[in-house]
Amino acid sequence: MNIDLTNCDKEPIHIPGKIQSHGFLIVIDGGCIIQYHSENISDYLDDMPAELLGRHVNSIEPLIGKNEPPDFINQLIVFGRANGFEQTNPFNTDIQGKLFHLIISASADKYLLEFEPARSDSRTDVHKMIGRSISEMLADKSLQNLLNNSAAQVKSIIGYDRVMIYRFAEDGHGEVIAEARNPDLQSWLGLHYPASDIPKQARELYKHNLTRLIANVNTEATGILTSADNDVPLDMTNSQLRAVSPIHIQYLKNMGVDSSFSISLLYKKELWGLIACHNYSPRFIDYRSRESAKLIGQILSSALEFRQDEENQQLQERYKSAVDQLSRLMLKDNNIEYALTGHNVTLLNTVDATGAVLIFENSVTKLGITPTDTQISGLVHWLKNNVAETFYYTSKLPSEFAEAALYRDVASGIMVSMLSRELGEYVIWFKPELRQTITWAGNPEKPVEVTPDGISHISPRHSFEAWSQTVSGTSKKWTDEEVKSAVRLRSEITYAINQKAGAIRLLNEKLKQAYEELDTFSFTISHDLKNPISTIKSFTQILLRDVDMKPQTVKILERINKGTDKMNNMINEVLDYSRIGRSELVLSEVDPAQMINDTVRDLLLIYNLDEGSINIGSTPKIQGDPVMLSQVFSNIISNAVKYSTMARPQRVSIAGIENEEEVLYTISDNGLGIDIKQLPRIFELFHRTDNVGDIEGTGVGLAIVKRIVEKHRGKIWVDSEPGKGSTFTIAFKKQALY
Ligand code: ADP
Repeated sequence: MNIDLTNCDKEPIHIPGKIQSHGFLIVIDGGCIIQYHSENISDYLDDMPAELLGRHVNSIEPLIGKNEPPDFINQLIVFGRANGFEQTNPFNTDIQGKLFHLIISASADKYLLEFEPARSDSRTDVHKMIGRSISEMLADKSLQNLLNNSAAQVKSIIGYDRVMIYRFAEDGHGEVIAEARNPDLQSWLGLHYPASDIPKQARELYKHNLTRLIANVNTEATGILTSADNDVPLDMTNSQLRAVSPIHIQYLKNMGVDSSFSISLLYKKELWGLIACHNYSPRFIDYRSRESAKLIGQILSSALEFRQDEENQQLQERYKSAVDQLSRLMLKDNNIEYALTGHNVTLLNTVDATGAVLIFENSVTKLGITPTDTQISGLVHWLKNNVAETFYYTSKLPSEFAEAALYRDVASGIMVSMLSRELGEYVIWFKPELRQTITWAGNPEKPVEVTPDGISHISPRHSFEAWSQTVSGTSKKWTDEEVKSAVRLRSEITYAINQKAGAIRLLNEKLKQAYEELDTFSFTISHDLKNPISTIKSFTQILLRDVDMKPQTVKILERINKGTDKMNNMINEVLDYSRIGRSELVLSEVDPAQMINDTVRDLLLIYNLDEGSINIGSTPKIQGDPVMLSQVFSNIISNAVKYSTMARPQRVSIAGIENEEEVLYTISDNGLGIDIKQLPRIFELFHRTDNVGDIEGTGVGLAIVKRIVEKHRGKIWVDSEPGKGSTFTIAFKKQALY
């Protein structure tokens, strides 16, 4: 026989055509005619008619119910059909002096009559025990203790050597989560078993028929006979005696188990796990004990449902309180990154992850166990280009992003919450590969065993490898609670970011307003000062015409006159300065040659200079506002001339060059120069260096220049050395400003 894992999944186990031989089976139709019976019936019933098939069951009633009234089978069926067979099962009957249980169940339009010994191998009085067992089981509040107690109680009821509570994971493989065992046995707690140990269709069956007994793996199963013209296989879903698959028998034999009993544990109608019991010698448990154990299973199932819901609820509350705490911290700290990663409660507490990373405002903060920085940046790059959603999670990252296979041990599962795609800002949580967290049952290193009948697939190593392959690069799934929590956290982060951005925008707005107010203020003041100053100037000049005035008075009046000129000058400059703040740029392509030439011509006249002292190089065109640009050139060139009059020979040069992006103008002189300490301040309003002496000025010109240049999104800087001269450079952007 060639059996492999896939065979195992396809084997039709509910129609095996065989039963275990510790009992016998008769199947009747609605008219009580015998349609099937087990081959071993003659082992139990003497003086049987030669042919049972096709006979009315009444014909063997004296054999199967010595003290029962005639037609009792039919009556039991009528009653059971009306009230449920759990009311009639088990029916005690005497078969040739031995007490038997008759267990009746429906199978499509037929009825299974199963007869099995009425006495357990166990000597305990189940009925007495059950009440106490249940109250002890439920005594403790924690789920783990509930499971431990249940295992212990089942063990005491059925008296098996080992009782395990086995829980199924999402991928169908199972883990031993509680056990009760004889002291000489090794603990199997925490061991994992492959899903193939309990094939899919077996698990389906276990949802309907809640207990299974294999009384003795060493006895041969008995065939089921039917008439030659009957080709309908018998559905044994509800059977008690159903023979189990030879694969499973072999599996148990491999483990040295002689008898096995299992009880299904359901959670919301799905198979949550099993209470699996092993005995290392053959052991039959009678129907009543099995039913008691089943009751424990059912009570445990409903307790599980309740506790599991309660635990889910608690988990959800834990996540929720972590998110609440983080959101409070974000609003309080005003530093989102620190709020999410710097306190006791962090991003890691909002889901069940082993690592997390926050990529925010150009910094990467890692928590717990994460991939390396380079791996994270590769992952982010992939996310940016391949994941359109703002929220994304997978428990199989390597199959989505092959590179991640390299770090699947720490990040087979990721949950990504995108904060900003443009800025590449993310929160990413990591779950490790499931395989890393598992202790496999048996020794995975053990060589593959091939038994004489060719069954090799059930050796521990083979199952571990098969399982390893299916779960390679897979993490535990992200639960609904985790997803909800991460989504909530993201909306809290977004809210905090917006609050913060809002605060900055508000400050910006205020600053802008303050600037505007300052501009208006200086404009008004300057404007209003103009009249009184011109009045002073006119009156001073009238007074100066008086020829009889004392020389001392004339001197004073001349100083007043000069002072008013200076004030006027300053007022004009301040007005210019504030005007720049308020006026819009009127852009065009400007040829600075004309404005430079005009300025230079005026300067040559004013300062009475040789033409050769000012050199004009090439003058490339600039994108800008012509009026403002002429102010720039006039200011800088005037300064260069003004602060170099003492130089012999005086040299000022003006030249422009252009590259791909910019047009650069340099204006250099060989004059006073500026002390390095004062360099940063010369563009400030009213700032003049200490070395200017008598040289006239207001300290406004360069502030105006800087404002204009910046309005053009250009740059201005100066290189200078005291006593040697200064070079001002202005860089204008070439491409259109809008
Ligand atoms: P001012 O009206 O005083 O010239 P500016 O704002 O134009 O005002 O210049 C500010 C200060 O920068 C000047 O007072 C002077 O100290 C210094 N400065 C500007 N240009 C030069 C230069 N070419 N050489 C030396 N110092 C200069």
